[in-house]
Amino acid sequence: MTGNAKPVILRGIGVSPGVAFGTAVSMVQQGALGADPNTVTPDQVESELERLDRAMRKSRRQILALKRLRSRLPTDAAHELGDVLDTQIKMLDGSRLIRGAQQKIEQDHFDASGAVRTKAEEIAQDFRSLDDPYLAGRADDVLEVAGRLLRNLHDAPRNAFSDVPADSILLAENISPADTALMDPARINGFAAALGGAQGHTAILARSLGLPAVLGLSEGLAEIANGTPLILDGTEGIVIVNPGRDQTVRYREKMARQERERRALDTLIGQPARTRDDVAIRLEVNLEIPKEVDMATRVGADGVGLFRTEFMFMNRDTPPSEDEQFDTLAAVVKAMDGKPVTIRTMDVGGEKLSYALGDDLAASPNPALGLRAIRLSLKRPKLLEAQICAILRAGAFGPVRILLPMIATASEVRAVREVMARMVKRLRRRGMAFANPTPPVGVMIEVPGAALAADSLSQVADFFAIGTNDLTQYTLAIDRTDDQVAHLYNPLHPAVLRLMDFSVQAALRARIPVSVCGEIAGDPRFTALLIGLGIRELSMSATNLLRVKQRLGQVELTAATARARMVMESHDSGRIRMLLEDLNGLA
Ligand code: PEP
Ligand code: MG
Repeated sequence: MTGNAKPVILRGIGVSPGVAFGTAVSMVQQGALGADPNTVTPDQVESELERLDRAMRKSRRQILALKRLRSRLPTDAAHELGDVLDTQIKMLDGSRLIRGAQQKIEQDHFDASGAVRTKAEEIAQDFRSLDDPYLAGRADDVLEVAGRLLRNLHDAPRNAFSDVPADSILLAENISPADTALMDPARINGFAAALGGAQGHTAILARSLGLPAVLGLSEGLAEIANGTPLILDGTEGIVIVNPGRDQTVRYREKMARQERERRALDTLIGQPARTRDDVAIRLEVNLEIPKEVDMATRVGADGVGLFRTEFMFMNRDTPPSEDEQFDTLAAVVKAMDGKPVTIRTMDVGGEKLSYALGDDLAASPNPALGLRAIRLSLKRPKLLEAQICAILRAGAFGPVRILLPMIATASEVRAVREVMARMVKRLRRRGMAFANPTPPVGVMIEVPGAALAADSLSQVADFFAIGTNDLTQYTLAIDRTDDQVAHLYNPLHPAVLRLMDFSVQAALRARIPVSVCGEIAGDPRFTALLIGLGIRELSMSATNLLRVKQRLGQVELTAATARARMVMESHDSGRIRMLLEDLNGLA
């Protein structure tokens, strides 16, 4: 699809708004063979074997995910693709390719990539030399599997993102949150992938970085060649391949309109965040990667309501040391200049994987219900201790709060408090400066059980932060990253709203602060409802803060409270949506 080819429109889920123009950089087709193998020293052989093993497991997971997408294809194509994918999975299980590559690492001391490349080329050559069309096809399968292994061995995006040309639009089968964290918006204008839903962290990060993105594109992605001109609209959820003149003009106009709207919102910077009847609301930001703090200060946030520290553990082979974590956190605390910074202990697990912490996390049969977040921290006390020390030390430079993810029971909070008390003593012994008094410890309310037990949690927590992204996922049993069930994901489901209301009431009774830091906090359509439910702190991506401030200025607290009560008495999501649209003046 290049040159004067006809425009083609591909459709997916728009997960991060905005229009992007650019040229395709396709990760779908990466993994070229041909380079000379590098060798390693004998003591590196073991770790190369482990790298190969890890890449194999990652490849298998990816192929299984692709098999899922087959259901969207016509029956014949689905069968054919199924056969190809089954063959590829077999090739990853102790096949000639894998055994041969392992041998090359052990005997010839090739590095894992060199071993895979040379073995794949040997096998493909053997197949082709037989001059049999069926076996020639097998050669292609071997090369495709090898390409996938190579991409995963290199953690391809990790390297490739660093030298993509300016004005790129990245295309890939799957873009993980860790990959997204590496994207430089100065050179990457947007991205699209076959897998993923609007509530996953890849989408969240894209919105935070202001990068238009489309996920869940099931067809056509693989045919786009590098360098093909593209328009991507992250609001409509489309990618236009080889756009025509009219489309180019139309989307340039749309982009200009969005830019004008953005500049108009800038006039709200420095203005207080208040409802029309003059009730002050704290508007804070969520940070995924430290560099976002610049945007937070630019828009005049009242603090950081959620710093997702897990991104400090991604795209690296070993976890960050206490000192490294301290440096990063202290820089954010200093940048916020006296405004509170809420630092969440790492929420690794689920879709947020960190190879630095071992890939047994991904091996869980159901990672979203497995060793994730606080469960992982409590199982690996050394990691938690280093994090708590780093947070306490950063607290010497300004107010910090500690937030615990995926809490289900009060005993987990008590366990962390014990660790904190020990770390305070440790830092004192080391003679180091740290937060005094010790920071408040809060819990995320994002597991339905935590919401239902909010009364007991309010006795051990200093504050609540309601994580509506996971609360919705776990209440409705909808994987927030799965494009196939994305249409069922609904934070306005009465069950989710009741759990929120229940948690807010428990916090108000216990007189502890309560905020919302899930994605709905940054969506102006929900502002009136959240305020009406009694929430006075909202934490969101910095890119949304001014939009929410603008909406807040139109909301009357009394009307919002009355409408929230009506909403809470409704049993039907459709009616709830109508009630809110009516209040928002959209109906
Ligand atoms: C949430 O679940 O709503 C939340 C804010 O946490 P995360 O999106 O990082 O899981
Ligand atoms: Mg969460």
